[in-house]
Amino acid sequence: MSSSRLPGFYQKSIEERQVALAKWAGLSSDEVQILAGAMGLNAESADHMVENAVGTFGLPLGIATNFLVNGRDVLVPMAIEEPSVVAGASYAARLAREGGGFVCSSSEPLMISQIQILDLAEPHAARLDVLANKARLMEIARDVDPMLVRAGGGPRDIEARVVESALGPMLIVHIIVDCRDAMGANAVNTMAERLRPALEDVTHGRVNLRILSNLADRRVARAKVVLPLAALSFESDGVHYEGANVRDRIVEAWAFAAADPYRAATHNKGIMNGVDAVVIATGNDWRAIEAGAHAYAARSGRYTSLSHWGADKNGNLVGTLEMPMAVGIIGGATKVHPAAQVALKLMGVTEARDLSEIIVAVGLAQNFAATRALATEGIQRGHMALHARQVAIAAGATGELIERVAAQLVAERHVRLDRAQALVAEQGKS
Ligand code: NAD
Repeated sequence: MSSSRLPGFYQKSIEERQVALAKWAGLSSDEVQILAGAMGLNAESADHMVENAVGTFGLPLGIATNFLVNGRDVLVPMAIEEPSVVAGASYAARLAREGGGFVCSSSEPLMISQIQILDLAEPHAARLDVLANKARLMEIARDVDPMLVRAGGGPRDIEARVVESALGPMLIVHIIVDCRDAMGANAVNTMAERLRPALEDVTHGRVNLRILSNLADRRVARAKVVLPLAALSFESDGVHYEGANVRDRIVEAWAFAAADPYRAATHNKGIMNGVDAVVIATGNDWRAIEAGAHAYAARSGRYTSLSHWGADKNGNLVGTLEMPMAVGIIGGATKVHPAAQVALKLMGVTEARDLSEIIVAVGLAQNFAATRALATEGIQRGHMALHARQVAIAAGATGELIERVAAQLVAERHVRLDRAQALVAEQGKS
């Protein structure tokens, strides 16, 4: 198998990268054109996806290199408009190789669908009635989606809780459904709808909402990375950063995020920079992933860091990330969006769980890259060089002028639109 270490990939032209990618993953020329944006999702398909469609909206698609996930080399497609993210993930993944790459695992793909039951004379008694009728309810749920059952999924359990609310106690029933390779929203929502008559019959109550929970805490993916001290030391602007010191600063940064919600929100945003980019590139529902991530981060009652960083007994830096990851490779936009299909092929993903594991590896890589930069040279140094290009483009620079203006802005340490406009006016003439 080819290595995902593609030295110099970033220095190639777009066309050269496309050729290298096609060769690496055995992509056809049509598939390359789909990734390039020349083919792919068009207005006609968009019209079948959303209401009042007028067209499609593009995002840059970058390839994160160097990823080794459970011993397998992976090139990761990332759809994102923010500079530095693809570079940060690739950089982290390169260092991670020195400790064996990312070790990932995941739970069974279990989703929770909720049914709200009201107007109960005695909610606690109704709860027991639901549990006593579990076999009958499970049978109804099982008949809803024979295709899912054939694929090895289907309902696994029924749970019931009495929840105190502003309107008094209500009974909340959860159907736990193995969604296999689907994200499963449609599948589990249909099951909840179908259970309504039986639940009203069993509880003598009134069913109101029937909808999945995005707090998919039974469907988690996990990534672990070990970074040897030798991989952590580096030079920047003539300053030497020693490995143990970099490790300690990263652990200090993590402790800050773990203790303070103001910092945790930004720390987790860094994780989501990596996560969302892959979720979007594969046509998955990033709002669902975002909602699940932040609810999971607050599950103790206090919002905190999704990741952990510490040192192992040999002094290596160790990072872990566990979070809900309700992604599919069947259904939703994953099947309809041509680029999502090529993205899955590029990663060699054949099961939704494989995809969820790659995504958390990228989230952890991104978390490392951002935290390392923040805890050492500061994030602006790397970020500004890339940001400067966007500012140059916004100021009207085209072609070679983009790099020239961007370099000047960085050299002057003033990446501002007005200065960029002045440079474009000045240099555009020469
Ligand atoms: P879907 O209904 O299009 O496809 C899933 C179906 O495919 C399964 O029900 C099953 O019948 C079939 N299938 C065939 N082979 C399978 C396999 N190997 N594994 C699993 N299923 C297989 O898609 P979905 O995943 O149920 O729904 C996803 C969509 O729902 C997304 O577009 C999402 O945006 C949307 N959605 C989300 C929410 C939310 O997150 N709150 C709410 C409603 C809808």
